[in-house]
Order: sequence, then C-alpha cells, then structure tokens
Amino acid sequence: MTELPLAGTLPAISEVDTATLAAWLQARGEPAYRVDQVMSGAHRADVSSFDDLSDIPKPLRTALAGAFRFSTIVDSHVIGADRGMTAKAVHELVDGQRIESVLMRYAARGASAERTTICISSQAGCAVACPFCATGQAGFGRHLTPGEIVDQVLHWHRPPWSALGEDGLGHYNIVFMGMGEPLNNADRVFEAVRLLNDPQRLGIGARHITVSTSGVVPGMDRMVDELPQVNLAISLHAATDPLRDELVPINRKWPVREVVAAGRRFAARTGRRVSLEYVMIDGVNDTDEQAHGLVELARGWRTHVNLIPLNPTPGSRWSGTPAMGIERFVAILRPGGVTVTVRDTRGREIDAACGQLHAQLSGRSLREARAAREAATGAPA
Ligand code: SAH
Ligand code: SF4
Repeated sequence: MTELPLAGTLPAISEVDTATLAAWLQARGEPAYRVDQVMSGAHRADVSSFDDLSDIPKPLRTALAGAFRFSTIVDSHVIGADRGMTAKAVHELVDGQRIESVLMRYAARGASAERTTICISSQAGCAVACPFCATGQAGFGRHLTPGEIVDQVLHWHRPPWSALGEDGLGHYNIVFMGMGEPLNNADRVFEAVRLLNDPQRLGIGARHITVSTSGVVPGMDRMVDELPQVNLAISLHAATDPLRDELVPINRKWPVREVVAAGRRFAARTGRRVSLEYVMIDGVNDTDEQAHGLVELARGWRTHVNLIPLNPTPGSRWSGTPAMGIERFVAILRPGGVTVTVRDTRGREIDAACGQLHAQLSGRSLREARAAREAATGAPA
C-alpha cells in the first residue's frame, strides 16, 4: 500500500507491515523476538495503549508511541441494545470522517453454540446510493485504509469493549456489512483481510469473514482468485433489471444476470455457498412476480437466500414487509427449490441499519452525543 498512512499521520500498528516494524526495531538495536512481542501484544484483548505492553521496556514503549499510532480510531461513541446482545459504535477517524461498526451476539440455541458477529465498514459513506440505505443517502466520503478496517475489529477486543471471551480470538465472524461498498475499495479491503488472517495479529480464519457486495462484478471475480476462502454475499434486493436499477443503482453498470453469473462462478470455482441478500420493502420488491424471478435466479446452484425486513431510514417513504407478506414470499421460494432464511433485524432501537446512527449524530461531536445519552438514560454511555 503506497499511499499509507493517510497524509500527515503516523502509520498505525494495525496496518504497518511486519517487515517495516522489524526494520524499525532492528535499527534501534532491539532483538528479533521483539517483533512478535510488539505485534501480538498490540493485538491482545487487555491492551489499550503501547504503555500497557508491560513486557516491553519503558523507553521502547515511549519510542513506539512516537513512531506509530496505537489506533486509527480517534474516538468512539458506543450504544447498546437488545439487552446487551447488540452494541453499535460510531468511530471518528483522524480527519474527522465517521464510520460505524456493530457487535451482535447470538445466544446458544439447540445444537448451535453462542456466536458473535462483528459488522464493519469499508468506506466512509458509499457512492452506490441505494435509496433505502442511510449510508447511500449520505453520499461518499472516502475509502478506508486497511488499518481503519482492522481497527474496527480491534475496538471490540480492547478495553472497555473486550466482549469476545477470554482469549478474544477466533470465536466470532466478521461481515463487511457496515458502511460502504467493499469491492469499490477492493485493494484495501483485501489487504485488511490478509491482516485479519495474520496469525501474529488477530489470526481470524478467512472462512469466518464475509464480504457483502451490491454487485461489483470484477471485484467478485478477483475474490475467486485472491480470497477464495472468504464468504461472498450479494445484495440482490430485486430480480428484474428495471426494479434493481432503482433499488441498487450500480445495477445499471452490472445488471442482475451478470451479477448472478459472477456469483455462480464464485460458487463453482470455490465450492462455497453464496448468500443472496434480499431486503423486503413493503409493496416494492415483495411481489409474487419478484419471488418467481428470484426462484429462477437462485435455483440450481450453491446459493442461499436471506430475507431481511427493511429497517426504515428516517424520513423514508418505504417500510418493511409485514410478517404475512414475508411468509407469502417464502411460500413461493421454497417449493421453487430455493433455500431461504428470514433474518431478524438487530438493534432497531439503536438505528443499527447501515449508516443510520451516523446520520443521527450528524453535526454533533461524539463527546456531546455521549453526554446527551447519559442525560437521557441516567447511565454512562
Ligand atoms: N455495500 C455492501 C455492504 C454494506 S450494506 C452491500 O450493499 O452489500 C450491507 C447490507 O445492509 C446490504 O445487504 C444492504 O442492502 C443492507 N441494508 C442497507 N440499508 C438497509 C436498511 N435500511 N434495512 C435493511 N438492510 C439494509
Ligand atoms: Fe452502499 Fe450497500 Fe448502502 Fe447500497 S446498501 S448504498 S451499496 S452501503
């Protein structure tokens, strides 16, 4: 990554490559084992600054803090919902851009163990401009750097949010379903995935990571070659071009059939199941005609349809399809041979849909937002 770090800033430990750190340590006359000590130490769950790395001599800790940033995230505002099962953060970056990440916990049910999903952003804003999405409505800010992507995950490891179990590693999934279109920022997203995979850092297996795309066909094909172990989710939302042109405007560049064909190539070449995401919008894309179209697109290959009731954005002219309408839609898909699940919408009360909390905070400092929340709930936010 040649443009790193952002102009005028120190490189962050989350994105500095190991060879650069090794050269820096070597130039200071440090022994080789320090590389792993610093790198794995900075990714430990109980650490919130270089100064917490107590096995490293104090002068070196001070020097590290002078040469690297501990995090690309300057400040975070976190709120919880669903009785502690969901928490959402707005993170402020060094240039004032704001992004969101969400932690969702799912209790153990039947044979399946408790699991956790972390939803992260790939861009500040998004240029795709889907009309039902708060991020799309806010427009495009900039691409995130690999470190800014990784630091959202690290945020949930570090105090006071070390919510991921004792070792803090391996027990959660990561989904690129926050702000931004990951495959419009593919180089940096792919680099972030490699950093997340690195056993010296967080060591998260690629199979625990999902990239969700609105249908950037060349990026989907790159995933086959460069990240074949990572899961792919396609935000379909409509089965016909005229409707998808409106709901997911990038469809004008890569129409439905090309997007589905790219999904099929991914499934065929990787042997992995691709999810088709379908946000249910009352009276818009939940018609019988769309359901039959979806059967045609989803049938006969390794795919899985996820139906998600729309989480309406403020001032939206649309609402989510009611339960009856979803049942009717499912009743067409299943007999058509399509595997389908209905996803619960998490964190409605905290506006957890993509970009909403960010929009709500617009113009306020994160400190003001925290103070307002404390005043409203009587509890520290
Ligand atoms: N840009 C990528 C990834 C981020 S959006 C993409 O579109 O796939 C992640 C998911 O959230 C997408 O499936 C998107 O359609 C969905 N989403 C956006 N706004 C929503 C809303 N208001 N209610 C429910 N889902 C929403
Ligand atoms: Fe961008 Fe995804 Fe939102 Fe569409 S749904 S505007 S692609 S973030």
